[in-house]
Amino acid sequence: LQLLSRQVVADVARVRAYEQEKQRAEQLEALDRAKTAFFSNVSHEFRTPLTLMLAPVEDALADTEEVLAPRQRERLSLVQRNGTRLLKLVNSLLDYSRLEAGRAKVAYQSTDLPAFTAELVSHFESAVRRAGLVLTVELATLGEPVWVDREAWEKVVFNLLSNALKYTFEGNIAVSLRAEGAEAVLRVRDTGTGIPAQALPHVFERFHRVEGARARSHEGSGIGLSLVQELVKLHGGSVSVHSALEQGSTFTVRVPFGKDHLSREHLLPGLT
Ligand code: ADP
Repeated sequence: LQLLSRQVVADVARVRAYEQEKQRAEQLEALDRAKTAFFSNVSHEFRTPLTLMLAPVEDALADTEEVLAPRQRERLSLVQRNGTRLLKLVNSLLDYSRLEAGRAKVAYQSTDLPAFTAELVSHFESAVRRAGLVLTVELATLGEPVWVDREAWEKVVFNLLSNALKYTFEGNIAVSLRAEGAEAVLRVRDTGTGIPAQALPHVFERFHRVEGARARSHEGSGIGLSLVQELVKLHGGSVSVHSALEQGSTFTVRVPFGKDHLSREHLLPGLT
């Protein structure tokens, strides 16, 4: 009897511990949801007034009939540049929190990925040239349809290329797209500053910035790569990085062909 009662006491303790653990997990989950909602709401609330503030500044700068003194123009340009930077950050935060909460608005579409990527990369041509760098682009025919959310793919390409440009002072930036097995593989390679080995495992973490990193501009928030990772995951893909200090970095994005791995409700209607 004594043995049995000891057994019962042990069982009760185990059940209690389990329940406490479960309660803690539920509390943590609720906290996480509240945090995501907070992020999302704040970003959203910031966006409207910012957009409204920027509009008259942009109008004034664009209006050829409005005579602005050089100093006024300079000051307005400063407001515009930093306002735009803030708006971009707010938009990235909003994208990220939506993705984290599983509320991202996505529409996968069968896409000619080499052509679409070429169009996106072309926007960087002049900036790369102005920076004294060489841009090489190799976009192979894939032979299989790739289903992507076009806005998401645009953000992936833009973020990777902006980083390559920001952290490269000489040499070249190479963009390639090719089929490897059952995946489309995008590589963005640069001959830039590289990333220290100890920082490599963290670069995809939200808000992580490499300490003391040399950059063309110090604008940035550490959200870019975490957004890239979430967007690629949404497509059932992955992103990885190889880097050597003072030699350069290569970011590799892999997205599976086809649409079987994607949620049907997010496939664009009319397309099969
Ligand atoms: P940030 O807004 O700081 O650029 P990201 O999330 O895009 O944020 O990148 C995180 C960090 O990873 C950067 O702060 C930078 O130190 C490092 N990094 C990203 N891309 C590169 C690159 N191509 N070359 C060197 N360092 C990079």
